[in-house]
Amino acid sequence: MNAYDELLEYIAGLEIVDTHEHLPHRESARPHNTDVLAEWLRHYFSCDLVSAGLREADLERVRDPHGDLLDRWLLAEPFWQAAQSTGYGRSLAIAARDLYGIDRIDADTIAELNRRFVAAREQGNHYRFVLKEKSRIRVSVLDSNLDADREFFVSAIRFDHYICPTHRRELVAAGQRVGFPIHSLADWKQALEVELDRAFERGAATLKCGLAYQRSLRFDKPTTAEAETAFHEFFADPHAPAWRGSIKVGKALQDHMMHHLLTLADRRGLTFQFHTGLQEGNGNVIYDANPVLLTNLFLEYGDVKFDVFHMGYPYMQELSNLAKNFRNVFIDMCWGHIISPTAARRALVEWLDAVPANKISAFGGDYCFVDGVYGHQYLARRNVAAALAEKVADGSFDLGRAKEIARLLFVDNPARLFGVELG
Ligand SMILES: [Zn+2]
Repeated sequence: MNAYDELLEYIAGLEIVDTHEHLPHRESARPHNTDVLAEWLRHYFSCDLVSAGLREADLERVRDPHGDLLDRWLLAEPFWQAAQSTGYGRSLAIAARDLYGIDRIDADTIAELNRRFVAAREQGNHYRFVLKEKSRIRVSVLDSNLDADREFFVSAIRFDHYICPTHRRELVAAGQRVGFPIHSLADWKQALEVELDRAFERGAATLKCGLAYQRSLRFDKPTTAEAETAFHEFFADPHAPAWRGSIKVGKALQDHMMHHLLTLADRRGLTFQFHTGLQEGNGNVIYDANPVLLTNLFLEYGDVKFDVFHMGYPYMQELSNLAKNFRNVFIDMCWGHIISPTAARRALVEWLDAVPANKISAFGGDYCFVDGVYGHQYLARRNVAAALAEKVADGSFDLGRAKEIARLLFVDNPARLFGVELG
């Protein structure tokens, strides 16, 4: 057996920890009134179809489960064929083959694929089948629902709405949740602390920040007075009645609140997942999401464990530098093996030279629908086996060390970051 085959056999046997998912928080919460095209095109591959030329309005028709399945397929078909070999496309093809026994998705098979998809839904144990039996996932970190089914998930919790509030209504609602009204920035900060502690008492495993979708990850350090001035905008007459429109809140408030949240996280030694790199969807600002922009936070909050998402794609070398340089910065490859399997593999080959092996987590499915998780972990296991086999072949280390690293990346490192008990 060659090194790749032996490593793949070893990795295929691991029960892995999945750092990041967006799945419905329990199987019964999966959307009703759906079919295979509607569910599988909720994200990712749908963007590749648009990138390949499908118009957004036509994508909506393809996704609409009320339309005729074959008509919808034919609308998507030329773009599906163009995009089928991307990481997103391959992940779906693997899911069709291994979960539903359909070897090729095309006009001749789409109806049968859908029939099997619907039949599997109706059985009611699809999460167990896909996540446990087929994907061998011990547990996934779910973004972000504290009521998640604990058979499958631990929870990440977001407080982005405390950092970027947009409407006075949010202040009123937060006041009702915490039991005191919000009149000042000090109240707002105290309310965040109350909600943070409640979330971790209810079993949250990590914080999560998704703000790179809407602003730069550079958080400056304004004075409290500047933040307060921005916050008081919510109480200006034109914004005061709760039913009036939203306002754009000043950057000073956002930056100040991020520092406050990190101060709380630092004192508690929490893990904090940060979206960096590629944003889902078509058309966004990639330079807002460069992980280098977080450097001042890494320097200041040494006891927060920053779990930096998506390999920082396409800033993998910058992330390598950060993870090498900072004790509190960790590389998370979630989403990575389907964004570009080759980019993920190459990055890992390089990281293993520069970054200690206890700093990298190999897999997070990052899917809204469960079938995609299977395709992603399939690619991830092969990718890591290939990267490690390359290191064995060039004499960097031997097969025993390669297996040790595989276990760290897929199991031990994420388990330690998210408090998952292995036994
Ligand atoms: Zn995500």
